[in-house]
Amino acid sequence: MGEGKYMKAEKKISVVVPCYNEEDVILEFYHELHRIMAERLQMAEYEILFVDDGSKDASAGIMKELSKKDEHVEFISFSRNFGKESAIYAGLQFAEGDYTVIMDADLQHPPEVIVRMYEEMQSGSYDMIATRRKDRLTDTKLRSFGAQLFYKIMNKISGINMGNNAMDFRMLNGKAKRAILSMGEYNRFSKGIFEWVGFRTCWLEIEIPDRKAGKSKWSLMKLFHYSLEGCMAFSTLPLALSSLIGFALCLIAVFMIIVMILQTIVTGVEGSGYATIICTILLVGGVQLFCIGILGQYLAKAYLEVKQRPKFLVQNLSEKKRNIYDRDLLV
Ligand code: UDP
Ligand code: MG
Repeated sequence: MGEGKYMKAEKKISVVVPCYNEEDVILEFYHELHRIMAERLQMAEYEILFVDDGSKDASAGIMKELSKKDEHVEFISFSRNFGKESAIYAGLQFAEGDYTVIMDADLQHPPEVIVRMYEEMQSGSYDMIATRRKDRLTDTKLRSFGAQLFYKIMNKISGINMGNNAMDFRMLNGKAKRAILSMGEYNRFSKGIFEWVGFRTCWLEIEIPDRKAGKSKWSLMKLFHYSLEGCMAFSTLPLALSSLIGFALCLIAVFMIIVMILQTIVTGVEGSGYATIICTILLVGGVQLFCIGILGQYLAKAYLEVKQRPKFLVQNLSEKKRNIYDRDLLV
């Protein structure tokens, strides 16, 4: 739909906004979002749920003021900085709308996209409306190279396709929201979680403007740690690595031993002590690494078990079974 077309939205939308030291942008963000919700969507029922992730600036105070003035504004304040992932989780837990939108406070996620998301969601063919950034012009070369490399590796080793340039800016219906909440793990990597739960996802390509004010909370170092976390949360391949290395060392050692024995037989001269020691070290080291790798495999299984991820997620079911599903709040 074109800019400026107005519609009346019937469903209730909750907008979850994780904020960490965003005093410079919260007000502008609020006005912009309010304009979309109240005017463009003419939404009677909606909530803007700010999650203050332990901000050290005036963010919490600004949210509190807003919630006093506007009944649509709610907030949750954390006791300290728990990270964006925890803020998203808390927001989803407290969101009461039929649809839930997750978006950043810095206006890099343009609020008018919510109108498009709403339309797609209303069509009934999707459970999740996700966004992908068109290009990475606003990023530095190093950052966008890092991001591309990361997605390539992740998609290979995790077995799920996290898509290139996927963002956290999304709209979820009740089903998708419940599914994501049912992933109770502590180390949360949202991009992986969104893909892991599956469901019918509609992708919107959007252009990302620069941050309106304030600074990005992500240094390169933080991004690097975040990617490592992602790898570890969705793949146990690193645990298998020592097995592989150990196995390779064993092969080399066995090969060298065979060569030495053959040499002795053919030439009749015994191999040097130096070579024998190298072979032994390689062999023993290899066997040890290999065994550590086996331990790793068991650890990997236990690791996935401890996460207590749901064993399945329901897309649809027959009327009679729906009662059981609603009564027991299955995912
Ligand atoms: N954020 C958060 N907790 C943190 C870091 C960031 O809630 O520990 C929020 C931040 O306030 C913003 C969103 O996450 O609303 C995205 O952060 P930022 O804009 O710094 O990330 P970038 O857009 O640079 O990836
Ligand atoms: Mg940003």
